[in-house]
Amino acid sequence: MAGRNAQQARCQARGCGEHASGVVEVELPVTWEASAEYTVLTLSVAVCDDHAHDVGGRARGLLEARVELVQLLSIIERAAVDEVAARDRIEELERDLVEAEGALDYQRERADRAETA
Ligand SMILES: [Zn+2]
Repeated sequence: MAGRNAQQARCQARGCGEHASGVVEVELPVTWEASAEYTVLTLSVAVCDDHAHDVGGRARGLLEARVELVQLLSIIERAAVDEVAARDRIEELERDLVEAEGALDYQRERADRAETA
């Protein structure tokens, strides 16, 4: 709760209509991108005692979600990079296998020729 100048105002929670007993600052992230740093648009919202805690908690939850978004995007990016590396490794192993099979066939043919000679 910040400020006491909202005493004559009504609570801004829809459908409440009670006299506001204070002001809660709600910080709205301006951008929702992968950057860890972001700016906010701050709203001062007049609320009654009943809604002060709820609005404050939801406002904090919104900022936590903004932080989690960056962490989740980072996890997804790492997983995508790991998947590309794993796919490259599989292709490399498949090429090595084809090469080894060719070498084995060649050795078998040589051995067969040596036996029949
Ligand atoms: Zn209210």
